[in-house]
Amino acid sequence: MAGKFRKCLTLCCPCNHPTEDMAKNTYEDAIAGLKKLLSEKGHLEGVAAAKIKQITAELGATGGEAFDPVERMKTGFLRFKTEKFVKNPTLYGELAKGQSPKFMVFACSDSRVCPSHILDFQPGEAFVVRNIANMVPPYDKIKHSGVGAAIEYAVLHLKVENIVVIGHSCCGGIKGLMSIPDDGTTASDFIEQWVKICMPAKSKVKSEASKLSFAEQCTNCEKEAVNVSLGNLFTYPFVREAVLKNILALKGAHYNFVNGTFEVWSIDFNLSTSLSV
Ligand SMILES: [Zn+2]
Repeated sequence: MAGKFRKCLTLCCPCNHPTEDMAKNTYEDAIAGLKKLLSEKGHLEGVAAAKIKQITAELGATGGEAFDPVERMKTGFLRFKTEKFVKNPTLYGELAKGQSPKFMVFACSDSRVCPSHILDFQPGEAFVVRNIANMVPPYDKIKHSGVGAAIEYAVLHLKVENIVVIGHSCCGGIKGLMSIPDDGTTASDFIEQWVKICMPAKSKVKSEASKLSFAEQCTNCEKEAVNVSLGNLFTYPFVREAVLKNILALKGAHYNFVNGTFEVWSIDFNLSTSLSV
């Protein structure tokens, strides 16, 4: 694992870190830039307004209803409140005092893989971090500190008993990782740099499963990337300590939303499934 970690550190730290100038960009700079853009494009306002009017009229003519995001959220919250919140005063009363989740979960931001839905977690059961391709970066106080803060809080303060990293079928982030050219050039501002966290998984799949189709390689990588993340969790001293004390368990998982299956495995990295449903 140490070798893997060293490899990851190298691969994750190319020389294209943000320059100092970029780091100095401020909120004020962004607003000023936006104002400039709007003033330059001011003459387009009339065109845009006319286009919106035209689209609205077309929707009306075809009987379609414009999507109202606020209305959607209102309806959703009211349903939650009447069907769950009001009916479970004991649960929500306890949660008003604090939380004591048994799980910390890493899941992809993909809208199809919400862990609370697929594992039926109730409020208070799982402390969740979601990001592109459900990745855990190695311990680093500067880079990706948001993830580090979540792990630190979950392990040291909430004292979760399990950390589960859940990969999934058809993961766009993993496909992106598998599609990065061999010379490492990237075209996106953030996405490829982020998914490179699991570059060791890609290397493993490319060397061990090169004869498989690209889609099959991606599926393999979805699982191998989970293993890299589990390995990266061990780079956090408080995670290591809790695992050694036997008060924290690390698990990998893969949710296949095409077949409707869910696999779980332990930290031994051998992909043997202790549960497959
Ligand atoms: Zn994904």
